[in-house]
Amino acid sequence: MIIAIDGPAGAGKSTVARLLAQRLGFLYIDTGAMYRALTLKAIETNLNINDEKVIIEMACDTSIDLTNNSDGTIEVFLDGRNVSKEIREPKITKLVSDIAKIKGVRERMLEIQRRSGRQGDSVLEGRDIATVVFPDAEKKFYIDADFKERTKRRYLELRESEKQITTAMVAEDLRNRDFIDSSREFAPLKKAEDAVYIDTTDMSIEEVVEVLLKHIKN
Ligand code: C5P
Repeated sequence: MIIAIDGPAGAGKSTVARLLAQRLGFLYIDTGAMYRALTLKAIETNLNINDEKVIIEMACDTSIDLTNNSDGTIEVFLDGRNVSKEIREPKITKLVSDIAKIKGVRERMLEIQRRSGRQGDSVLEGRDIATVVFPDAEKKFYIDADFKERTKRRYLELRESEKQITTAMVAEDLRNRDFIDSSREFAPLKKAEDAVYIDTTDMSIEEVVEVLLKHIKN
């Protein structure tokens, strides 16, 4: 079974997808981590991120693997190297949407994501899972929350590791990524017509997981 979860940054998608996969004994596939890994490689190899041809060549020449740990967390491997921590750094977050909007990059990621999802029962989480990657997924969800709440959640998540961060900085990042992700030409962020929309603004993570489980069991 494929469970597709899409939505904007800060809506709680990743935590919900991870817990859901753990509860169901499914694989958890964080597709944002794949775009982040590519962005890291582009930065490390000093590529011009505005040069689409060069970025697509890099994407086609890159291997990205995700592994699931028994505690529900994941490890991300870029060309065999564990980059799980680096891909969460602010310099990656700042550029990832510009890499993810390139058509050839998305085509390459599509191959990897479909192959990963076909390994077994999986929860895939991202921006275009229900619309493009697995349009035939058995269960589709679009997880959202109002902008203020998303900003607050991201801020609370990041302030441990990034002491300098402010809510204004988080709001700017979300606004920027929301705009690029939803206005891009290829596979923009949007709710699939047949996805269940869940507004999590006033819900706890556990409540969201319960709602999803109910839909899945029905
Ligand atoms: O999920 P996360 O916030 O880590 O994703 C980072 C970025 O990767 C998103 O802002 C988006 O630009 C891109 N992304 C995407 N399609 C996906 C998953 C992520 O374009 N399926």
